[in-house]
Amino acid sequence: MPAYDPDNIFAKILRGEIPAHTVYEDDHTLAFMDVMPQGEGHTLVIPKAPARGLLDAEPESLAALIRSVQVVGRAVTAAFDAEGLTIFQYNEPAGGQTVFHLHVHIIPRREGVPLKR
Ligand code: C5P
Repeated sequence: MPAYDPDNIFAKILRGEIPAHTVYEDDHTLAFMDVMPQGEGHTLVIPKAPARGLLDAEPESLAALIRSVQVVGRAVTAAFDAEGLTIFQYNEPAGGQTVFHLHVHIIPRREGVPLKR
C-alpha cells in the first residue's frame, strides 16, 4: 500500500485549507456533506488521524470513527426522515477509492428512491 499523502483533499479540509460543509466534529473525527451526493443527505465521516484506508488506521481511531458514524447516522436519519441507511467505505483504486484519507459514506435512504450514479 502506498504511504499516506498529507496533501490529499480531506487532509486539506482537516487543516482548513479548503472549505467543507461540516455537520459534526469531535476531538477525533469530522463529518461533512459529500460535494457530489449519490443521494439526499450523503455525508462523509473521517478520522482526524492520518490513515489512507481501513487497513492502516489505528484501532483507537477506528473506534472513534465508528462511534461518529453512529452519531451522524442517527442525525441524518432524523434530518432526512430516512427509512434506512446505506453505509460504505472503499480501499485503494481497485476497491473504488479516489480520495486517499480514510472515509465512510453515509446515505439516508427511502423505499423506492435509488442512488444516483
Ligand atoms: O471513492 P471515494 O470513496 O474515495 O470517494 C470520495 C468521495 O469524496 C466522493 O463521493 C466525492 O464526491 C467526495 N468529495 C467531497 N469533497 C471533495 C472531494 C471529494 O465530498 N472536496
